[in-house]
Amino acid sequence: MKTLVILGASGDLTGRLLLPGVGRLISSGRAAGLALVGAGSDDWSPEQWQERLTGSFADALAPGGQSTAGGIKELASVQKNSHYQQLDVTAPGALGAFLATVEGPVAVYFALPPAISQKACEVLKKQELPAGTRLVMEKPFGSSAESAHALNETLASLVAEDHIHRVDHFLGKSTVLNIMGLRFANRLLEPLWNGEHIAKVEIIFDEDLALENRARYYDQAGAGRDMIQSHLLQIMAIVAMEPPATLGETDVRSSIAAVLRASTVGRTADTDPGTASRRARYTSGAIEGRPVPDYLSEEGVDPVNDTETLAEVEVFVNNWRWAGVPFILRSGKALGRTRKEAVITYKPVPHLPVGFTGTDSPTRLHIGFGPETLTLDLDVNGPGDLFTLDRVQLETDLASDPLLPYGEVLEGVLNGDPLLSVRGDTAEECWRIVEPAFAAWKSGAVPMEEYAAGSTGPANWTTSND
Ligand code: NDP
Repeated sequence: MKTLVILGASGDLTGRLLLPGVGRLISSGRAAGLALVGAGSDDWSPEQWQERLTGSFADALAPGGQSTAGGIKELASVQKNSHYQQLDVTAPGALGAFLATVEGPVAVYFALPPAISQKACEVLKKQELPAGTRLVMEKPFGSSAESAHALNETLASLVAEDHIHRVDHFLGKSTVLNIMGLRFANRLLEPLWNGEHIAKVEIIFDEDLALENRARYYDQAGAGRDMIQSHLLQIMAIVAMEPPATLGETDVRSSIAAVLRASTVGRTADTDPGTASRRARYTSGAIEGRPVPDYLSEEGVDPVNDTETLAEVEVFVNNWRWAGVPFILRSGKALGRTRKEAVITYKPVPHLPVGFTGTDSPTRLHIGFGPETLTLDLDVNGPGDLFTLDRVQLETDLASDPLLPYGEVLEGVLNGDPLLSVRGDTAEECWRIVEPAFAAWKSGAVPMEEYAAGSTGPANWTTSND
């Protein structure tokens, strides 16, 4: 890839996540020969753009990072040659004419509000795109299965599917490869990785961050659309997928797609989705001594949106391996404890020899995401009375990539590898799975519960090892 064009160059995502990711990627020597161009609707001076780059790249140059001498030199040169272009991407012909001036092949990153990205793609024409163009789309990808399908059709009229990168920065290389390495490189685990032996799987993403001035986006999305519809379903699919023959994108993404096609909220497609999902919203409280206001009184929040800040859905993967095993996907904000992990709970042993006393808890495997960790909870004898079982944890760190999540995503884009990008059909499947739950919430069939900011959630919601 020769040029990365960031549309929405003045935006929040670009400044906070995208450019720092670009900086790390280049400074670590993993993106040689790249040119960088920013575009936005504001009339920015070259100095403003350079200032933004300097601020965003500072972290990549800080001591202790993974930067190389060559990478640092390269980053300075990329910054010096980078320029900003004022552009209304929704004006017919404007984006196409601009792309014709850029040295190809080009990766066009749509860091724009979703409606603007969609409009920009609708006015683009295939013949305007330099050969080899890759289109990089942010979340949310559509707002329903139907709108995601329409957006997929628009994109398919421009470039081939393997040149479309639907970003899910949770699908960083470390997360995906750590789960696959653990599952498929250990004979001990995979034969027991099914409904015969596993009682339930929880995928939990609890944050201690509250709204953090993001009402404009979050109050329209809520925990369900922000986290469960996209990130958590994709992680679930990697936990549940059949072993792929290779780590090539076709094998891996087809295995992911097969899981999602088989999935429903509730035990079957006919289950009342209201009984298989819950939602709640935080009230005022404190997190580590920091006061947090009631969600509804946060600036920019409209109570009419009826937005949840904590959500849980019970998904079933209706195939031979997983029939009857609940996959509980939960995510929320303003919780007292940050918790980002998949928890696999095994069924009890068929018979515990009479005579043992003490702990008799199920074997549990925790795969932590950020930090990347692995913990196995086992019951073992002693210390002390050998007839008494005690709980122990075997723990290790898993590999993590020094690139920031967006650096990992961009590396895939620039290398032309869509392995970590969400495939078009699965983007639609994810909406199809959760839409019945969202409809039940909207109809009021699922009550909005409450929890104090800084707590672990509503009193009756429990997850493993709470
Ligand atoms: P912002 O509103 O901060 O930025 C949007 C950008 O789009 C601005 O640079 C704006 O330029 C530009 N823009 C708007 N209209 C046009 C137009 N017609 N032509 C050219 N540029 C235009 O949004 P975010 O950065 O927060 O979000 C961008 C995308 O990333 C969204 O899809 C969001 O869902 C996604 N995302 C954001 C995250 C975040 O933390 N911010 C996290 C994950 C995903 P100007 O200001 O000049 O109008």
